[in-house]
Amino acid sequence: MNNLQLSRSNLNRFAHWGPFLSIVIYKFITLTTLYFTELWWPCFGSLGGFLNNALFLTLFVISFSCYLKSVIAGPGFLPLKWKPINLEEDEQYLQFCRICDGYKAPRVHHCHKCNRCVLKMDHHCPWLNTCVGYSNHPSFVIFIFISIIASIQSSILLLKTLLLVLAQYGHRVLIYFPLKLTLLWITAFGLAVCLILTLSLLLYIQLKYVLKNCTNIEDWIVGKAISRREQDPSLPPFIYPYNLGPINNIKTFFSKGDGIHWPVREECGEYDLTIEQLEQKLIKESWKQPMKVIKNYNGRWFPLVFGLCVCCQIPWTDETRMPLNIGDVIQVTRFRKYWMYGHKNLSNGTRLRGWFPKQCVETLSTSSKKDK
Ligand SMILES: [Zn+2]
Ligand SMILES: [Zn+2]
Repeated sequence: MNNLQLSRSNLNRFAHWGPFLSIVIYKFITLTTLYFTELWWPCFGSLGGFLNNALFLTLFVISFSCYLKSVIAGPGFLPLKWKPINLEEDEQYLQFCRICDGYKAPRVHHCHKCNRCVLKMDHHCPWLNTCVGYSNHPSFVIFIFISIIASIQSSILLLKTLLLVLAQYGHRVLIYFPLKLTLLWITAFGLAVCLILTLSLLLYIQLKYVLKNCTNIEDWIVGKAISRREQDPSLPPFIYPYNLGPINNIKTFFSKGDGIHWPVREECGEYDLTIEQLEQKLIKESWKQPMKVIKNYNGRWFPLVFGLCVCCQIPWTDETRMPLNIGDVIQVTRFRKYWMYGHKNLSNGTRLRGWFPKQCVETLSTSSKKDK
């Protein structure tokens, strides 16, 4: 029953604009390419035509099944209420997640979109409508790689179609190309080129992570660890514990462990990264600024009531917007010209986070003076 519920909730991930648009775009490019190629290089007209179609469809099937696997398998979540075996000894090295009511194992991060602690979390991907993490990271990288090859083949075939159409001017018309087909061609070719460019950049970043055995979040943590030591050379050096050399890193990336325990370098300990995270968290806590809400905000993305500037300069991220009520106290951690990001503590011990217009709050000290 549990498995049935799990697979049903995993399939629910498709009921979102991300997977819907991904599948529509992917199908559109594939079918359009097949249609145009059939006009001048029919599948059953020659051996070359057949092999070309077979290669294109094989790439499509592999990449699409990797995409489906990435969505359905998901990243892998840490069990709720998880705690280490040696709790008394190890709890000092681990962060606690109030929402999942458990400790965060090494390489685990809580995703506010998935609302769960994610094993070896890389990032939350809106196109998958779930996180990329321990379970689906390999299929995600293979999906990107094969999709680039399929998009290159698609754009070459579409370009060849255009060249044939241009070459037939003044000659016998072989391919009829009315306006509707021209628009179809432009859209498919534009999308294929966009996919090649964006996915190539993504693949480059992901391959760097695979070779270093790190994730997007860990790369960020390591960057902060290095800059901390540049500012304060008295700190002990930080060695990223999971970098076991390129060959072992690739093996680790594709191997199946439990997603909780990871091999580390000889000179490092199991909790080196989590200890660094705890230290960075303490510094972050000291930066946050408490502010008092002076105007209500309903959590809309384009709150016209606060003026055009606020609506035109919204933070372009899929992070949540936080509704505010007068009198709330917000711990602000990020500042933009017209928006702020922060959290408020709820009575059940959890935190609500999100963006809100800057003019809704003022610093606590100012508001308390006014109150007097
Ligand atoms: Zn959690
Ligand atoms: Zn997520």
